[in-house]
Amino acid sequence: MPETAHETAEAGAASGATIELENLTKRYPGNPQPSVDSVNMEIKAGELVVFVGPSGCGKSTTLKMINRLIEPTGGRIRINGEDVTHMDPVKLRRRVGYAIQASGLFPHMTVAQNIALVPRMTGWPKARISERVEEMLDLVGLDPGEFHGRYPRQLSGGQQQRVGVARALAADPPVLLMDEPFGAVDPITRDHLQDELIRLQHELHKTIVFVTHDFDEAIKLGDRIAVLRERSHIAQFDTPEAILTNPADDFVSGFVGAGAALKRLNLTRVREVGISGYPTVAIDDPLQEIFNTLRTSRTNEILLLDKRGRPYKWLRRGDLMRAKGSLARAGTLVIDTVAQDATLGEALEAVLTDTAGRVAVTGRRGEYLGVVDVESLMNSVHELMEADRLEAMEARHGLEELRAAQTHAEQEGAAGGERKA
Ligand code: ADP
Repeated sequence: MPETAHETAEAGAASGATIELENLTKRYPGNPQPSVDSVNMEIKAGELVVFVGPSGCGKSTTLKMINRLIEPTGGRIRINGEDVTHMDPVKLRRRVGYAIQASGLFPHMTVAQNIALVPRMTGWPKARISERVEEMLDLVGLDPGEFHGRYPRQLSGGQQQRVGVARALAADPPVLLMDEPFGAVDPITRDHLQDELIRLQHELHKTIVFVTHDFDEAIKLGDRIAVLRERSHIAQFDTPEAILTNPADDFVSGFVGAGAALKRLNLTRVREVGISGYPTVAIDDPLQEIFNTLRTSRTNEILLLDKRGRPYKWLRRGDLMRAKGSLARAGTLVIDTVAQDATLGEALEAVLTDTAGRVAVTGRRGEYLGVVDVESLMNSVHELMEADRLEAMEARHGLEELRAAQTHAEQEGAAGGERKA
């Protein structure tokens, strides 16, 4: 609907521009190998593309070549079809907003002065700048009256990051580059900032290129994700769904899997997964009965519990033969146990440091509940990750439907002439 687009433009929002990278290359002096080796990529207008990959693979260098904070040594960059490879970099940077980790705010400037930076350089009239500063603070969810005159050190990490985003957007650039912008804040704040970026992008439709090493962040934010390997070679460039369900090669599936598995291990508690039973005997049981249990059990050891039902010793057949009728010196003392509330990560650590590769799980009062081993932990993590993938896909489908419905409602509103010119 061209009329709607026209009205939107008149309302003042510059929505996204296309970005094309053509054989983009960076060689650093003294390094025989290029750090970024001939990247070819087309990014659509209004798209949020995430570069994700291991540390040192060239994400940040590739990103910074787009606004020529780092000068390419080869190749071309086009923004909205225009070759910007050799244009005045200062002019270029007015078109390309840039937000970085730990916000990068100037400490001796107030919040308002920081946000006003690029509009001032661009020569906006004063009144328009101060209006814009208020508008930007509002946009990123900070009360203009309260935050306007503060200095960066008087803000929390999350608030600084919001101001960083406000500053990057102040001159209304069609393109926004974000270099690990939420890398330095705690996980809960990061989650909020990510949600806000999604909301903001829904309003603004900028072209955003976002760098992270966190695959979950990439899944959450990206319309498309470029998984990069060394020298910025593109291992896969596709939607999150396609990458999750159809990783291009072992590198991608390893990368997808590793991050997800570790996160899962630390988010899941032992009580949430199945723990296996194990043959146990009590210290007061007659020796003959203990022998019988050992003989008939499928495992080659059993767990001896103390008088209060707590894990006490691991007993093997040979131990009992040598014990000559007494349990006092038989078996190996249980040193490590994990509580039901321990994370699977903690359980895995206990299992891996145990020479027999298993650990007893205990309840509140230290009583024996069951056992976990490497295999059962691995199975649990795999099952949980499968469930996560399905859930992520369902959530994204839900989100897409919601976005479509909102866009539709907005277009109806604009067509109804509600928007002021
Ligand atoms: P990433 O953002 O993926 O962690 P970078 O783009 O920062 O990776 O770095 C890519 C590669 O380029 C790395 O091997 C790094 O050591 C190298 N590199 C980055 N900056 C410089 C520099 N100024 N001089 C020489 N080598 C550099």
